[in-house]
Amino acid sequence: PIALRGLGKRFGDASAVADVTLEVPAGAFLVLLGPSGCGKSTTLRMLAGLEEPTSGTIALGDRVVADGDAGMHLSPGRRGVGMVFQGYALWPHMTVRQNIEWPLRVARWSAADRRARVAETLRLVELEGLAERHPAQLSGGQQQRVAIARTIAPRPGVLLFDEPLSNLDARLRVDMRGELVRVHRESGATSVYVTHDQSEALAMATHVAVMRAGRLEQLGTPDELLRAPATAFVAEFLGTPA
Ligand code: ATP
Ligand code: MG
Repeated sequence: PIALRGLGKRFGDASAVADVTLEVPAGAFLVLLGPSGCGKSTTLRMLAGLEEPTSGTIALGDRVVADGDAGMHLSPGRRGVGMVFQGYALWPHMTVRQNIEWPLRVARWSAADRRARVAETLRLVELEGLAERHPAQLSGGQQQRVAIARTIAPRPGVLLFDEPLSNLDARLRVDMRGELVRVHRESGATSVYVTHDQSEALAMATHVAVMRAGRLEQLGTPDELLRAPATAFVAEFLGTPA
């Protein structure tokens, strides 16, 4: 499971995230949904360990990985999380295979284990035929799949996505939704996915956390949010007038 308790982040005297408490079970696909500036990326970066909370705690599985009040903070590398960013930042001089293999090299996997895992991961994202190409020889959607493959290669227990489809054209964006959910399921991870796109959230999530100005407005399944929005803001944001 992933559990946030009273999570807060201040930058100077500005509050980016305030008192967010939520919990989702292992295997959940949690979408953080809300308008620009509501604190989605800041929350995700705290989960990743790229920002330290100023208050509250983050638990991944049965481990507390950050405690803002106690000043405790586990480094990103020790959390078992993988993050897919908006810009894919593939290594341009490496082939698809080498890009996907990279995190396994860093983690000092043996050559045989690397080979087996890369083959399995290439199958999972359906890139087997493109393994020897370089990123510049791929379409945007294929590059995005390589970025996802590279992140999931070590099979992190928690996958974090920050608007990973926003650079893609509209049709590919919709195609990739299903693929991402499939990869999430097959890799056995718990995922947290940031977007400001309601239809993306409703199509992909098992749980949606609607955020507004740094606060959690409502947590529920897509169905619960549509049927029983807790506030007028949630109803309006989902496009279902209360
Ligand atoms: P978007 O949809 O535009 O990406 P977001 O929901 O991801 O928005 P955040 O990036 O989490 O929003 O930002 C939340 C608030 O915190 C914003 O007001 C932002 O300006 C502020 N903020 C984020 N990072 C910093 C920082 N490093 N220093 C100061 N303020 C920051
Ligand atoms: Mg953001």
